Formats: sequence, C-alpha cells, structure tokens
Amino acid sequence: MKSLLITKLRDKNTPREQFRSASYHLGSTLAHMTMSRFAKREISVQTPLGEAAGVAFDHPLILVPILRAGLVLLPSFLELFPQAKVGIIGLKRNETTAIADQYYENFPLITREDYIVVLDPMLATGGSAIRSINCLLEKGADIKKIKMVCMIAATEGVQVFKSQFPEVDLILAQEDPTLTDDKFIYPGLGDFGDRFFGTD
Ligand code: URA
Repeated sequence: MKSLLITKLRDKNTPREQFRSASYHLGSTLAHMTMSRFAKREISVQTPLGEAAGVAFDHPLILVPILRAGLVLLPSFLELFPQAKVGIIGLKRNETTAIADQYYENFPLITREDYIVVLDPMLATGGSAIRSINCLLEKGADIKKIKMVCMIAATEGVQVFKSQFPEVDLILAQEDPTLTDDKFIYPGLGDFGDRFFGTD
C-alpha cells in the first residue's frame, strides 16, 4: 500500500485531487506506524461475556506539524490520537541557502512527561527537523520521547539527523538516495507543499 501511494505522489502527472487523497492515505499509514511504536499500558476490559486482556494508549502527547507541509499530516494523526495537543512551528526554507528560517511558533506548555511527534512530509538536508527538535528541547522536552515522522527522506539528511539525535525515533515511509544541487530530494516528488496547496 505504501509503495502504491508513494508512486502516486511521485508521478508529476498525478492531478492535485489525487495527490491530496494519496497524501491523506499515506498520512494515515504513518499515523498507524507511529502508534505501533509507542509502548502501551496493559489493561483489562469486560466484554459482554467476561474479562479480556487489552492495551491502552493514554500518554500525554503533543503533535508538532512544521508549517506548512506538516499540516497535511495533522488530520490523520488527530484521528488516531484525538487526545493530543498541537504545537505549531513555522520554518521556511531560504531558497538560496536551503537553510530553514523560523518565522512562527505556538506551543502548549511542554514538560518531560510529554511524548512529542514532529510532522513534516519531506526530510531533505534534515535542517528543519533538527531546528524544530532543538526548539522543543529548549522548551523542556525529553529527547527520548520525541518521534520524527516523514513521508520521504534523503539518505544524507537521515544520516545528519541521526548523528545529531540518535535517541529520536525517525519514522519514514520511504528513503531516497540523493539530494539535488538545490537540495531537493531525488527522485523525490518535487515540492510537496506546492503540489498539495496548488502554489506551483
Ligand atoms: N521539501 C520538498 O517539498 N521537497 C523536497 O524535495 C525537499 C524539501
């Protein structure tokens, strides 16, 4: 399923409505992958016939989409984690330097108890992801409770990210081999935000 959706997203002839639909479906797959990586609490419930062992997930959770493309992953994650708080960080890639400039933030109070899931469909150089996680650490997050979720990441960015934050759980649908000279993921899918929002 993941590869069908990634293929749809990669194809430059995919119309916008299908690009959006594939994005939401892949977001849902990533949300399920993320849920499966969290430890659950063992509970017991009463069925109409008797007692059954089960599990619950009730950690305090903060979802952090990186504006603007990260917003696309938010609905799927909120569906699976309806109790989550949402913190927003706005980073814009400077097209000349490919370095992320922060222009916005709005976070709930963050403590070491909170589990945090950072959302960004594309991880190219790793700059935006690293910047966001540094921002969360400054606000009091526990590095061991942070997960970073992306649709496609470039190997180079993955290596930089993992060398900086080996404790952070990086969840990807796809890893691509290279970056272009202007720091786009290759073969990638082009500019995710432009294709999703129609600003291309
Ligand atoms: N952001 C995108 O949307 N695409 C890339 O290839 C890299 C960063």
